[in-house]
Amino acid sequence: MESINFEVERKRLVDQLKLYGYIRTREVERAFLKVPREEFVPPDLRKKAYLDTPLPIGHGQTISAPHMVAIMTELLGARIGEKVLEVGTGSGYQAAILAEIVNPDRKAGGIVYTIERIPQLAEFAKKNLERTSYINRVVVIVGDGSKGYPKEAPYDKIIVTAAAPRVPRSLLEQMRSPGRMVIPVGTRYEQTLLVVEKDLEGKIRITESIPCVFVPLIGEEGWKD
Ligand code: SAM
Repeated sequence: MESINFEVERKRLVDQLKLYGYIRTREVERAFLKVPREEFVPPDLRKKAYLDTPLPIGHGQTISAPHMVAIMTELLGARIGEKVLEVGTGSGYQAAILAEIVNPDRKAGGIVYTIERIPQLAEFAKKNLERTSYINRVVVIVGDGSKGYPKEAPYDKIIVTAAAPRVPRSLLEQMRSPGRMVIPVGTRYEQTLLVVEKDLEGKIRITESIPCVFVPLIGEEGWKD
């Protein structure tokens, strides 16, 4: 029997993430308090859902650590009503957090497109998003997200949750002017989180944030395997 009070655990984690400065804004705090991370991890790991650590979700992939989700979400700065592309759906948790920000009342029109290369994980995420009622605000696509998802471009914000060898040209093209992208770029084993901004004239500016370690972005504009 499950005796954990997940709501209490969630609040405790959010307080910790605020204390360390990972959660800085009300919008991100609200989303973290709302989205049940225990519904996005495999059933046998539910009791670990509120540890600040990545967890395995099968197929050699992970749900990112909550502090990394908080850092990336704060850097992305998504706003109500925006259209967001996430590359690397995994469990669907980051997509749900973003849906909570761009469309909190389901009337704001904001939407998240999220693309995953492993069909079984896309299915896992879809089920998680259905169970938690985010599926109307998140569209899950199976495909190579290193090429983005041109069909719905341009995007106000793009977040890549897998490590790329360089910033994919397709993703730069699919950013709105103005728009922002957060993406880990580096070697297969260590990367730097980059904030890529496109201004009104389409000019690109890249700022380096923190060092990080992500699973590889595998695809045409990522790693080959
Ligand atoms: N954002 C996820 C979450 O909230 O659970 C965690 C993402 S996990 C760290 C990275 C994901 O990127 C993996 O599920 C992996 O299969 C996926 N991935 C890797 N290369 C990809 C590509 N070219 N297109 C789409 N997804 C890709």
